[in-house]
Amino acid sequence: MKWFYRCPACGADYDIAPGRYLCTTCAKQQQQDRPLAGVLEVEWEGDADPRSLPLPIEPQWFAPIPVGQTPLWEPQRLRDQFNAPRLWLKDDTCNPSGSFKDRASWLVAAFARKHGIKEIVLASTGNAASSMAAVGAAADLRIKVFLPAKAPLAKRIQVLQYGAELIPVGGSYDQAFDLSLEYSTRTGSMSRNTAYNPLTIEGKKSVAFEIVDDLLRAGSGEPDHVFVPVGDGVILAGVYRGFENLLRLGRIKNIPTIWACQAEGASAIARALASPLDGNDAFGDPVPSSTLADSIAVDVPRNGLHALGKLKKYAGKAIAVSDDEILVAQKALASGSGLFAEPSSSTAFAGWLKVRQSLAADEVCVLLITGSGLKDVAAAARGLGLEA
Ligand SMILES: *Cc1c(COP(=O)(O)O)cnc(C)c1O
Repeated sequence: MKWFYRCPACGADYDIAPGRYLCTTCAKQQQQDRPLAGVLEVEWEGDADPRSLPLPIEPQWFAPIPVGQTPLWEPQRLRDQFNAPRLWLKDDTCNPSGSFKDRASWLVAAFARKHGIKEIVLASTGNAASSMAAVGAAADLRIKVFLPAKAPLAKRIQVLQYGAELIPVGGSYDQAFDLSLEYSTRTGSMSRNTAYNPLTIEGKKSVAFEIVDDLLRAGSGEPDHVFVPVGDGVILAGVYRGFENLLRLGRIKNIPTIWACQAEGASAIARALASPLDGNDAFGDPVPSSTLADSIAVDVPRNGLHALGKLKKYAGKAIAVSDDEILVAQKALASGSGLFAEPSSSTAFAGWLKVRQSLAADEVCVLLITGSGLKDVAAAARGLGLEA
């Protein structure tokens, strides 16, 4: 098998090599305050073993820390309560750092080890940082994170406990993103910024393989709907990438309907999908984000153009929910199933609650629960009317 990067916009191919992030040609079209132009996808040529997960880095480079293979389980009480007999939860709170981000960090760290890279730099709303710090600790890598000073305490503490260097940024995540890129470009350190480093998308595709394998093992059919919480749109694109691979390998017949679930106060991708315009024009000027779901609070979705392209190609949908709906959903999920999710992940459940009556009862619905509720107890306390 030969692995390489391909630009989905212009079709140019590039080696998967240190220093390569965006498509050289398409990145020239980058506009101020707009999603990244020239985001690359991982591609292969040749025969892949249809039974295994195809990845561009050989297994010996992966750090010894158990990422992925998270439980897909049947929330019996929610199924009864909402008459949804084929509802499933994919519980990615079980990853080592408590979030889905570990899938991407694991692949990025494997790439760094293969190429003898010692330092990784990134910006984060909190979970990518705590995740890269955790995997970096297992992989013996130096991790430097640019994090909004207002990021939830638990996520900042995780970063420090895992031994990473934390650079607090006075402003928003969007400012942290730009500062971290400036730093990595100037110093030549490897960047794990989401979407900018194509391996962040590729690493996340493993979830689609696990969902399809586990449903098959449980005697269920393919997923019909997958509900994904969306900020920058990298998880969304990774999920699509996984299903595209599975289709190519002949392991599924259809790409499921993907529902991009956003907070109303940070819903650039939902607005772009509803817009009659396309590309950058569909995004327009950024709207400052305002939501308690910190992991999906982005002004400019970095993977917006790429994610929008996938949603349009596969007739995906988008839903925006209010912070109140998110907090109600958080409590309903925790008390109805036993799974305590952070607000961003509760957005997927809130989205499902909003549209579930339009779905047929025999359709297989999977909710991607991306982060643990323990990562932001202050937000959860607000949902209970408590001070934290
Ligand atoms: C990062 C994150 C998201 C959103 O992922 P994007 O790729 O930014 O869309 C959702 N949930 C959790 C817990 C996250 O950490």
